[in-house]
Amino acid sequence: MHYETVIGLEVHCELATKSKIFCGCSTKFGGAPNSHVCPGCAGFPGTLPVLNRSVVEYAVRAGLALNCDINRVNGFERKHYFYPDLPGAYQVTQFFAPVCVNGSVELANGKRVAIKQIHMEEDAGKLVHDSFEDATLADYNRGGMPLLEIVSQPDMRSAAEAVEYVEKLKAILEYTGVSDCKMQEGSLRVDVNLSVRPMGSEKLGVRTEMKNLNSMRSIARAVAFESARHVEVIEEGGQLVQETRRWDDDKGESFAMRGKENAQDYMYFPDPNLPPVMIGEEEIEAARASLPELPEAKKQRYVTELGLPEYDAGIITGSKHLMELFEATCRVEIFDAFDKTVAKEAANWIMGEVLNQLKATQTLPEDMSFDPKHLANLIRLVQGQQINRGTAKKVFAEVFAHNVHPEAYVKEHNLALVTDSGAIRDMIAKVVAENEKSVSEYKSGKEKALQFLIGQSMKALRGQAPAQEVKKILLEILAE
Ligand SMILES: [Zn+2]
Repeated sequence: MHYETVIGLEVHCELATKSKIFCGCSTKFGGAPNSHVCPGCAGFPGTLPVLNRSVVEYAVRAGLALNCDINRVNGFERKHYFYPDLPGAYQVTQFFAPVCVNGSVELANGKRVAIKQIHMEEDAGKLVHDSFEDATLADYNRGGMPLLEIVSQPDMRSAAEAVEYVEKLKAILEYTGVSDCKMQEGSLRVDVNLSVRPMGSEKLGVRTEMKNLNSMRSIARAVAFESARHVEVIEEGGQLVQETRRWDDDKGESFAMRGKENAQDYMYFPDPNLPPVMIGEEEIEAARASLPELPEAKKQRYVTELGLPEYDAGIITGSKHLMELFEATCRVEIFDAFDKTVAKEAANWIMGEVLNQLKATQTLPEDMSFDPKHLANLIRLVQGQQINRGTAKKVFAEVFAHNVHPEAYVKEHNLALVTDSGAIRDMIAKVVAENEKSVSEYKSGKEKALQFLIGQSMKALRGQAPAQEVKKILLEILAE
């Protein structure tokens, strides 16, 4: 029998506000344990929360960018559970009326993944299990950090769709500036809800949830593993249990953690210390006006205005950091803004050498540190035929790693092309004189002999002369 996988995702995204959601503590990543903590975010009785209005602003901006409706009146509820990373024994979140509802993200195949809702909430602290034997330590720096939880409908049908949805969502959130979305630092975490059903069936199967996946690769692997596990249990006549499972990325398997609590177990009720959140029309319009050009619109513009291939435009606009590198390179003053040939050339460099270097050095786009001016300078050196492409690639590796200035580097290492045709002619004449046998073979009609002579000439010029020029001069000398 054929099965269909049904996937819904809950994405937690840490907001880039300077202070926490209900107190003035810093949201800076890292810091000594419990150094970004006050009685409020440490859950002391008698403290009162005060909502950080920037969190609402950011939530509205994210909601608008994700095509959501904004709930003009929304509020906060307490979700009760006991766990040592949650000192107040409840998490302040939104349950009855979330800030944004009914959004969507469009995939490349035209499918719209519906976003059911986005709610604001506070993060929990962090438990450190392995610093001491027989002891677990609690670090509450993360407690009270502002989060958006973005809940999709179960609209995805494969690992590829799930990954594409997260990539698109991440790019949109990065563009709007609401979050840095660093998955490796936990500022974007994904819970995967998954079930399988016989192809063609309308009824949803039993659902399991895998929490806190923090890379695209682990999302893809977790979906593949878990859907195969579901099919296996069904085919063997077993019974799937609705539960939360832990994804172990090292083992490549999921493990049962605990049964899924029903909503009632949390005893949600409105937080009596937090008044309803009212959002005015002017606030919504201001947020709308503050939105930058979003990835999809930018991609279309790159295709129509700059003539970039759709694929390239998609890759570049798919990452805020690649997009910024591209635009900064094109904007460097030595070029006319967005000259089409420069744009194409810059795009080729990013699609080629930049991606190669990122992969080879396992660097994330946000960690690139070279000056876009240097990439522009390199493009100009190639366009002006001062260096050939092979040399340019080697120089770029130095730009990428050490932010060298290409022109200075080329000069220092004597990498410039020989453009003095007199010097080229002298060198080639010497090669012709030293290879009488090949010359006579060429004259008796052997094409291969010409290739050999071109090769020898290029070698004599250390590869630093324009190939066309070398061939032209060689033919002239041979015709004499
Ligand atoms: Zn605090």
